[in-house]
Amino acid sequence: SSRALAEHYSAQAQAAPDSMKAFWMPFTANKQFKAAPRLLASASGMHYRSVDGREVLDGTAGLWCCNAGHARPRIVEAVKQQIETLDFAPNFSMSSPLPFVLAERLAELTPGDLNHVFYTNSGSESVDSALKIALAYHRARGEGQRTRLIGREKGYHGVGFGGISVGGLPNNRKWFGPLLPGVDHLRHTLDLERNAFSRGLPPSGIELAEDLERMVALHDASTIAAVIIEPISGSAGVVIPPDGYLRRIREICDKYGILLIFDEVITGFGRVGHAFGSQRFNVTPDIITAAKGITNGCVPMGAVFVSEKIHDAFTHGPDGAIDLFHGYTYSGHPLACAAALATLDTYAEENLFDRAIELGDYWEDAIHSLRGLPNVIDIRNFGLVGAIELAPRPGAPGTRAYEVFTRAFHEGNLLTRVTGDVIALSPPLIVERQHIDQIFGILSDIIRTTA
Ligand code: PLP
Repeated sequence: SSRALAEHYSAQAQAAPDSMKAFWMPFTANKQFKAAPRLLASASGMHYRSVDGREVLDGTAGLWCCNAGHARPRIVEAVKQQIETLDFAPNFSMSSPLPFVLAERLAELTPGDLNHVFYTNSGSESVDSALKIALAYHRARGEGQRTRLIGREKGYHGVGFGGISVGGLPNNRKWFGPLLPGVDHLRHTLDLERNAFSRGLPPSGIELAEDLERMVALHDASTIAAVIIEPISGSAGVVIPPDGYLRRIREICDKYGILLIFDEVITGFGRVGHAFGSQRFNVTPDIITAAKGITNGCVPMGAVFVSEKIHDAFTHGPDGAIDLFHGYTYSGHPLACAAALATLDTYAEENLFDRAIELGDYWEDAIHSLRGLPNVIDIRNFGLVGAIELAPRPGAPGTRAYEVFTRAFHEGNLLTRVTGDVIALSPPLIVERQHIDQIFGILSDIIRTTA
């Protein structure tokens, strides 16, 4: 069976560490990992099973993507049936029915009039596609001088050259040369002095949105194409927007004709309640980038959602002219579409987009119960997102957060995510109160005993 095969390969990897050399793991300290690997063999519902047979509670929905939990029967069945029926169909001047059906379904979920869907295969591709669409939109309507892109410090927008250029994580940028020209960054909004241990939206920091006014004053609005922002960032260690900040950014964009792109790769598909973070924050951008939860993580897929106004700008060419010179071989792949349709059905049937609101207070109380533990310098939460920031260990190699993450996996049978000094949490939306108690019980014990 397929499960036996998976177990066979896991056993092989475990038995012969030398067989682990060839896989150059992404965003990983390869030597350190291979000396003491953490390998997952199978998954179901809220749990993984490790190759050594332990049941591991999933505190991170894989990598912020398995929002409906693992191996959900409807999704598994849809993918199996799809591969037997139509394994691949090109989408350049050809197609199959599935991407159209899916796009209509997605357009019902998006905020405002973001009714048009461009398919990609990942968050990074969604971001680079969105930036290109923003530039081409201005050019199509005769404002081709609007080429400047604005991101934020600490922003994470994937790893394409566009994404790392507008992104604001120094390690992701410094190795890779001069990047895109004409990019600026707003300041980030993380402020431990004023906002540590805020529950939900931090009260201070709305004035940081005025950075955008300063960019306009410096460069003139006529040169600025778009601003890209994660409503909540994950990779920078979970940054929750100050109360009113996103709305203020929207107002400034409107004032100057600048497009607003929300990168909802992690906030999309129920993470903070509603289908998209935009709806929870009641701020509608012009473009949304998504991925991850769109297929519940089981087949790679991303999407860019654009407003009527943007889409319309591409439709005035002569008959027979290509709208947008952009696309991927796997844009609208049948397996991904089948997985996404079954995923949307699962979200709807089980009302999973309501879970982050229903459980929000419980989650907030549970995570903030860790306040006062040794070295905990901040706790942040919103929806079913959480972060525990630990004081750095001056001079010592390895962060406390990394130690907590590895101990949580080996001793606590809990999967968390570590970024810098932060333990990030984002459980599948099927999480129950008992799992939340378990997550924070385990983390509390481990943080208490990590020097
Ligand atoms: N944008 C945001 C906000 C993300 O959090 C991520 C991944 O975590 C990406 C883009 C990149 O997505 P991918 O890894 O699928 O390319």
